[in-house]
Amino acid sequence: MTSREGTVDSSSKAEVSGASQEEIHRMIVRRQIRAGVLAFFAAGMIATGAPNAEASPKVCWSPTALAHKPSLKEIKKGDEAYRPKPRWMSVLPPPTRAPVGAIRRVELPVESPKLIALTFDLCEQPYEIAGYDGAIVDILRSRDISATFFAGGKWLQTHEEQAFQLMGDPLFELGNHTWEHRNLRVVEKPSELRDEIRGTQLVYERLWSRLYKRQCLARDEKNFAHEYASDRLSLFRFPFGACSPGALEAVAAHGLHAIQWDVSSGDSTPGLTAEQIAKGVVNGVRPGSIVLFHANGRGWKTAAALPIIIDQLTRQKYKFVTVSTLIHTPGAKRDIRPICFDNQPGDTNRYDLFSRQLHRTYEDFNNRRNIIPPKPELRSSRFPAENP
Ligand SMILES: [Zn+2]
Repeated sequence: MTSREGTVDSSSKAEVSGASQEEIHRMIVRRQIRAGVLAFFAAGMIATGAPNAEASPKVCWSPTALAHKPSLKEIKKGDEAYRPKPRWMSVLPPPTRAPVGAIRRVELPVESPKLIALTFDLCEQPYEIAGYDGAIVDILRSRDISATFFAGGKWLQTHEEQAFQLMGDPLFELGNHTWEHRNLRVVEKPSELRDEIRGTQLVYERLWSRLYKRQCLARDEKNFAHEYASDRLSLFRFPFGACSPGALEAVAAHGLHAIQWDVSSGDSTPGLTAEQIAKGVVNGVRPGSIVLFHANGRGWKTAAALPIIIDQLTRQKYKFVTVSTLIHTPGAKRDIRPICFDNQPGDTNRYDLFSRQLHRTYEDFNNRRNIIPPKPELRSSRFPAENP
């Protein structure tokens, strides 16, 4: 089986470095599923002496289906964008705890190539349907650049086909960016904190099982699309880059590595030109860096800046990898902090007041329209104890 950088690869690395019982269980289940699927198609070939036309898996998406569509970049607001929370249960075993703390970058061993991880947030707030900037994805695919996308659970639900395409791509991996982009530093109710983390885990797992059922090939036509996607998310990114000690603990208890960045592209700031974004990123990175961008329609000039960044960093011999590959690089030392910040400690605290006002606006919205958000059924044996 062809390996991939990222989530699937990280399982293999866990196997080498001493996997937990649960990781071993997952690997066994995955391999059993793969073996079963391959045996099924092999049986079709043996019976006819030739590839069985009916049993031969098809490619999931044509190049046209994968290509950028400008209308998808638009952000829609208001009632029509309302989406209920997920209500299904997880079938996976409980996750292994992750280390507590926010990873900003890694220090690579001296013999390592100059690895760097580009990350793209797919944030979606309540009462909006955020965009999907396929132009960014087209550039990454055409230049064979690995990347990590941090998706909101609600975004995954409103962009299912794009989510499948990212999950099933050999270059990409997905991470959890909360359910609806609440600021977890100021979320007061433990149930809200829990739902922001679990909602995304669950919607992703449901998507994975649906991608698995499709039994179609990834664009490389070598493997099934679902084989390029981890069956659960193992990375997490805090909205606003803001966290509290309780939120860091909750994320770790859910088996998630909290991933921040050491270089912010500033691409969500209107008015920054592509050249300014590119200059900031190229001057800011060093080997082991994690760079923040947006692919939800709020990266205003990201698609224009990206080719400049890729060209210049490639010339400097950088290699682009997923965050999973970066943090699991043998010998890499993670820069893991007990606090979250953008450039300097304390700088994301400025969102506290704004976020509290935003949360009140959402509640008012519900009250005015008599919308009672459905109580999510997110408890299951696979999750850690309440209010960690
Ligand atoms: Zn975000």
